[in-house]
Amino acid sequence: MSSLSGKVQTVLGLIEPSKLGRTLTHEHLTMTFDCSYYPPPPCYEAISKEPIMMKNLFWIQKNPYSHKENLQLNQEMEAVREELLNFKAKGGGALVENTTVGISRDVKTLKWFAEETGVHIISGAGFYVDATHSPETRAMSVEQLTDVLTNEILHGADGTTIKCGVIGEIGCSWPLTESEKKILQATAHAQAQLGCPVIIHPGRHPSAPFQIIRVLQEAGVDISKTVMSHIDRTILDKKELLEFAQLGCYLEYDLFGTALLHYQFNPDIDMPDDNKRIRRVRLLVDEGYEDRILMAHDIHTKHRLMKYGGHGYSHILTNIVPKMLLRGITENALDKILIENPKQWLTFK
Ligand SMILES: [Zn+2]
Repeated sequence: MSSLSGKVQTVLGLIEPSKLGRTLTHEHLTMTFDCSYYPPPPCYEAISKEPIMMKNLFWIQKNPYSHKENLQLNQEMEAVREELLNFKAKGGGALVENTTVGISRDVKTLKWFAEETGVHIISGAGFYVDATHSPETRAMSVEQLTDVLTNEILHGADGTTIKCGVIGEIGCSWPLTESEKKILQATAHAQAQLGCPVIIHPGRHPSAPFQIIRVLQEAGVDISKTVMSHIDRTILDKKELLEFAQLGCYLEYDLFGTALLHYQFNPDIDMPDDNKRIRRVRLLVDEGYEDRILMAHDIHTKHRLMKYGGHGYSHILTNIVPKMLLRGITENALDKILIENPKQWLTFK
């Protein structure tokens, strides 16, 4: 048992879990996403370099990863600060900021957001997908990687004393790479040592979450403290979803607010819209998994901020919750998904 046992670790220090309130379990407040830039076809090269304007906004919404400026969420501190105040006014209490090494984690800015807004912010330890791993990261052993992760939680991240409160999002590609596999093993070792929460970004293939859970379990992870992110774009088949749910990790529907005609990272995937996500959550509640569901928006680009006509960080509380009630998801189930499940997950064992 560690000294963190029974507490949640925010960027401002340890708090009692009951202080969290409604919690979004997968968001980004400051990051860059250049690693996922997707060059547009030649006829759209000019538009991809324009500033964000009303006349190109629809194109950016449909091709968010082909517009370089759109990938610089770290340039929007003031807009994000305002949104966090709005999230709080709408009944929000906390969020997990999943930015890890490779997409410009900045714990100092997270601390500033927490101080300015009073929203509890939990920062993520670890590394994003293989494409962002440095040669030094690739060269590390599982033991060395485990030390990096435990240090970010026990002593501080990015050369500061600001501590992470979860491991992840740990980035995985499809197929899983050697470097990613080592980091998953280190994640399991650090999790077992500290009793901390873990959150995973799976590769874009329905088999990816199954393989990741296998690797984590073989390395000794506590599956009940593990979140599989992006279920909405990864396991679309109902039978496969229910099979995965049986494994016992948290199932996170975290792309609320997105509606893409063409998913640039994997054209085979028809990205569901919010109504489909709501039907999936209803299905999982009906099947008895209400203790295992989490929800978020995973905002990681500018165009999803209200400043640019986007849905913002309050979309779930203001728009999705009323629609879920209308579709038969009870107030009690929603309290579990938004308050109780995040609290259980984020509390150190
Ligand atoms: Zn994310």
